[in-house]
Amino acid sequence: MKKTPFILYLVLPCYNEEAVLPISIERLTLFLQQQILSGSISPESRALFVNDGSTDKSWDIIADNHQTNPLICGVNLSGNVGHQNALLAGMETAKDLADVIVTLDADLQDDITKIPEMVELYEQGCDIVYGVKKERKADSFFKRTSARFYYRLMDGLGVKTVYNHADFRLMSSRAVEQLFQYQERNLYLRGIIPLLGYKTGTVYEELRPRAAGESKYTFRKMINLAINGITSFSIKPPRLVTGLGLVFLLLSVIIFFYVIISRLRGVAVSGWSSLILSLWFIGGCILIGLGIIGEYVGRIYLEVKNRPRYNIEKKLLD
Ligand code: UDP
Ligand code: MG
Repeated sequence: MKKTPFILYLVLPCYNEEAVLPISIERLTLFLQQQILSGSISPESRALFVNDGSTDKSWDIIADNHQTNPLICGVNLSGNVGHQNALLAGMETAKDLADVIVTLDADLQDDITKIPEMVELYEQGCDIVYGVKKERKADSFFKRTSARFYYRLMDGLGVKTVYNHADFRLMSSRAVEQLFQYQERNLYLRGIIPLLGYKTGTVYEELRPRAAGESKYTFRKMINLAINGITSFSIKPPRLVTGLGLVFLLLSVIIFFYVIISRLRGVAVSGWSSLILSLWFIGGCILIGLGIIGEYVGRIYLEVKNRPRYNIEKKLLD
C-alpha cells in the first residue's frame, strides 16, 4: 500500500530563468501550501530547482528563497549540461527524499493545476503519469510543425514515444530508481521511460505561454535533442543504407540494358559502357557493405549501452 500523505517533489530545471523564477516560486509555493493544507501531500514536500549553469541571477534567486521559504530547495550544477541532464540531476537528488516526483519546466508552461490529477492516478497505482499537450497554441508555427514531423519520424524509426508529451511527468520513486539502471551517457528520457514498462496514466493539459522570459531551447539545442533521440534508440539508419545499396544494384541492371541499347545504336563513346556500369554496380556493393558493417556497429552500440534486460514490477515471494 502507498503511504498517505506521501512526499511530493517537484523538479524544475532552470537555465537563465531570472525573469520567470520569482513568479514560478510564488505560484509553486502557493500550490504546495494548498496541497499540504488539504492533507493530500506531506508537509515535507518541496519544489526542487536545478540550476543548469545559468549565467544570470537564477541561482541567487533560488538560494535567497531557500533561506526564507522552507518549501523551496535547489541544486546548483557547476556548468550548463542541458535540460535532460539537469532533469536527471534533480531526479537523482529527489528520489531518496520523495515518494513521488513530478518534473516540469521552470517557465510554468505546463499546467500545474493538473498535478492533483496526476497524483490521483499515482494513488490508483500508476507509477508513471504523462502530461500530454492537447494543443500547442502557445508554440510558434515552426515549433508545432517540426514537433509533429519529429514524432512521426520517431514512430517510423520504431522508437516508442508518447505523442505530444515532453517532460511534464509524474514518476514514483521506484520508477525513478529503475530509470537509473539505464546507465547510458546520452539519456533521452522521453524514449527511455516508456521502456520501463510500469503501469502508466495520462493527463491532458493545455500548453500555456511562458510566464516571463524567452525560450532557452535554441535551434541548436532542439536539433541536438532530436538527433540524440533518434540515435539513442534506432539502429535503423544503417539498414536504410543497405536498402539504398540494393536500389543502386537494381538500377545497375536497368543501366546495363540502357548501355547495351546505346551500344547497339552506336551512340556510346568507347569506354563509357564499362565505366558507367561499374560505377553503379560498385556503388551499390559499397553501400551494401557499409550497411552490413553498420548493422554490426549498431549491435555493438546496443551492447555497450548495457541496458537492463527486464524491470521487475512486483515480487510475491513469501
Ligand atoms: N533548460 C535547461 N537547460 C538548458 C535549456 C533549457 O535547464 O540548457 C530548461 C529551461 O530553463 C526550462 C526548460 O528547460 O525550464 C524548458 O526550456 P524552454 O522553456 O526554454 O523550452 P521551450 O518550452 O521553449 O521548448
Ligand atoms: Mg518553455
